[in-house]
Amino acid sequence: MKKTFMPTVQTRDELEALQLKGLQWTVNHAYNGSPVYKAKMDDSGVRPGDIRSLYDLDKLPFTTSKDLQNGYPFPLLSVPFEKVVRIHASSGTTGKRKVLCYTQKDIEDWTHFFARCYEMAQLTQEDRIQIAVGYGVWTAGAGFQLGCEAFGAMAIPAGPGNLDMQCEFLIDFQTTVMCCTASMGLLMAEEVNKRGIKDKINLKKMIFGSERSSDAMRKRIGDLLGIEHMFDIPGMTELYGPGTGLDCAYHTGIHYWADYYILEILDPETLKTVPEGETGEMVVTTLRKEAVPLIRYRTRDLTRLIPGECPCGSILPRHDRILGRSDDMIIFRAVNIYPGQIDHVLSGIDEIGSEFQIILDRKKDGKDYMTIKVERNEGVDKSQDSDLSKRISTQIKKEILVSGNVELLDYGSLPRSERKSKRVFDNRDND
Ligand code: ZN
Repeated sequence: MKKTFMPTVQTRDELEALQLKGLQWTVNHAYNGSPVYKAKMDDSGVRPGDIRSLYDLDKLPFTTSKDLQNGYPFPLLSVPFEKVVRIHASSGTTGKRKVLCYTQKDIEDWTHFFARCYEMAQLTQEDRIQIAVGYGVWTAGAGFQLGCEAFGAMAIPAGPGNLDMQCEFLIDFQTTVMCCTASMGLLMAEEVNKRGIKDKINLKKMIFGSERSSDAMRKRIGDLLGIEHMFDIPGMTELYGPGTGLDCAYHTGIHYWADYYILEILDPETLKTVPEGETGEMVVTTLRKEAVPLIRYRTRDLTRLIPGECPCGSILPRHDRILGRSDDMIIFRAVNIYPGQIDHVLSGIDEIGSEFQIILDRKKDGKDYMTIKVERNEGVDKSQDSDLSKRISTQIKKEILVSGNVELLDYGSLPRSERKSKRVFDNRDND
């Protein structure tokens, strides 16, 4: 029989039973293993024995990135040090970097569900996977690599950047799958196009990590490379690393590994569950994590659950792509805006490219003004600018309820980056 990495349970009921068992184990383990978790639970008046059903989850206190920072360098450690076999750290763009410990079993669990991502993407052992993500103390390289080997495909550990070498590998090794950020995917697609090597390569799928890919970006990459599928792989260092879910070939949302963690979607203000299908903050509780279990960890990432069944028949529930971070929210003339919403509007307009910038200014009249810089697509003439900018601002007004000034630029004039592109420039004094 073909080896599978899919869940051992077959129905939603069995999945919930597995979740309850995992939740009870986790709460017990954290309470007895970590003085910080014990104190937090004692303060909230909840004991491990109080968790009798999944509904009891909301009795548990939240964990935040502050808890990780306070315990630097080895926060929330719930096992003795001799059980720790590895650490990883986040790149530390916001505040102090987060360091997470892993036991051998944590590494094995992560490897197993990462292999599941490749299975979900319908790869086979014949596939050759060019892993163009960062190798080092962060989780990306190790995750993609170990998952690939456990799955049984061929790993090409290329690392990020170095377009010359990436193109050489695509041709020489006949790579079938490339893993990278969406921004790097776009750079690669443009490079392959520029060099005219599309006929010499064998690329069929791309898996994008660490940054959400916009519809426009995916469309551009797909057009340039003529590939079959592009997948989004979510993940964060706190929750093992990348690979905590993947969209299936129907691309109706990201199936997430509910046999490894519980996902709640909460209103970031009230901290109550939002109705199914509405956007809120992702809050995760791990079910098997030993070294650093997470209990109701507030990720700050925004998404929504997708109701109903996926046509693929998987029992694994789905969440939408990450809409943004609750920290990235812009307040503009009393309206809450996420950059992802602007991206979504722009994606629906064919005449413009996938890159954009949002610039916020406060003028002498004391009012805030928003300028959105976008690129005309290749082959689109300047003479259409005034029509086009009017159409874009009307659409933004209609969907996001704010007015902005749209500035059109030549194709290729906004900066491209291999990592996350900075899109919001807020020049308002906030005093
Ligand atoms: Zn599916």
